Amino acid sequence: MKLPAFAYHRADSLADAVDALAVHGPEARVLGGGQSLLPLMALRMSVPEVLVDISTAADLRHHEVHDGGVTVGAAVTTRTLETDPGVHPLIRSCLARIGHVEIRTRGTVCGSLAHADPAAELPALLLAVEGSVELVAAHGSRVVPAAEFVAGPYTTSIDDGELVAAATLPAIAASAGWSVREIARRSGDFALVGVICVLDVDRSRRCHDARVVLFGVAATAVRATAAEEALLGEIVDGLSVEQAAELAFTGVDVLGDLHGSAEYRRRAGARLVAAALDEAADRAHDTTTSRAAARA
Ligand SMILES: Cc1cc2nc3c(=O)[nH]c(=O)nc-3n(C[C@H](O)[C@H](O)[C@H](O)COP(=O)(O)OP(=O)(O)OC[C@H]3O[C@@H](n4cnc5c(N)ncnc54)[C@H](O)[C@@H]3O)c2cc1C
Repeated sequence: MKLPAFAYHRADSLADAVDALAVHGPEARVLGGGQSLLPLMALRMSVPEVLVDISTAADLRHHEVHDGGVTVGAAVTTRTLETDPGVHPLIRSCLARIGHVEIRTRGTVCGSLAHADPAAELPALLLAVEGSVELVAAHGSRVVPAAEFVAGPYTTSIDDGELVAAATLPAIAASAGWSVREIARRSGDFALVGVICVLDVDRSRRCHDARVVLFGVAATAVRATAAEEALLGEIVDGLSVEQAAELAFTGVDVLGDLHGSAEYRRRAGARLVAAALDEAADRAHDTTTSRAAARA
């Protein structure tokens, strides 16, 4: 299908991009990798008058790794981050599950966050690592924490004239284990149900920090707070994992669609959470054991 007519502005810098957004107002859209926006335009579900292309803006094409965490400029592609060995394996594992390599080669990290698809990995990851985004407009900038960024399906706190200039995905504790699991109909499809777990346990497997984020199941990615609270202070074993998994969907408004009913998502999701918690606890235990061995 052909795209509707639009004016095109190739921004050569962040300042140029926000100036263009200010000039053209709400009818302008940022063009990142175009992997979501262009199909929506072809389907006439989005008909912007002006596209402000940031993909080649020199000052937005960098990412900076800090202790496994990373700050990513708006024009950095998913694939660039996924293939940087300095980036924490939790982050790289999430990125590797996004669509196919061709999509990750064009699509951007910040574009995926701005798009805020409820089944996308990156908004869920932002929640799991308690990250933030930097929003910049011609009149100034602000930093928005993950918990305040996504307001609903495909809806964020980005105001007219603002763009996501960068996202920060902090490192998780060195002693923490992690897991990313999802069920999709085919490899590369959006998740019918997905979970990201970060668990920090001591050598006796007592839990000091638990983060469980569900995606693909509700209007936005959501923290499974009942499961997190059930694990805190407990020894992570078969019983506590089962109990937490059973609680994972408490208070979550699970949605069904033609690909999977709400009941299917709840039941399959609980099994997924159990498997992810087991894996995260094992990884944390391995880390703890190997650090203890290194000290001995
Ligand atoms: C076949 C297919 C399969 C896919 N599978 C998955 C999947 O499994 N998981 C997944 O998460 N995604 C998937 N995607 C989506 C893909 O990850 C997109 O690349 C991503 O959602 C959007 O990134 P983009 O840079 O292409 O953004 P664009 O398509 O350019 O833009 C998307 C939206 O975000 C806005 N935007 C972009 N950048 C910024 C910015 N810096 N600041 C403010 N607003 C901005 C645009 O204006 C637009 O509204 C898939 C896409 C396709 C085509």
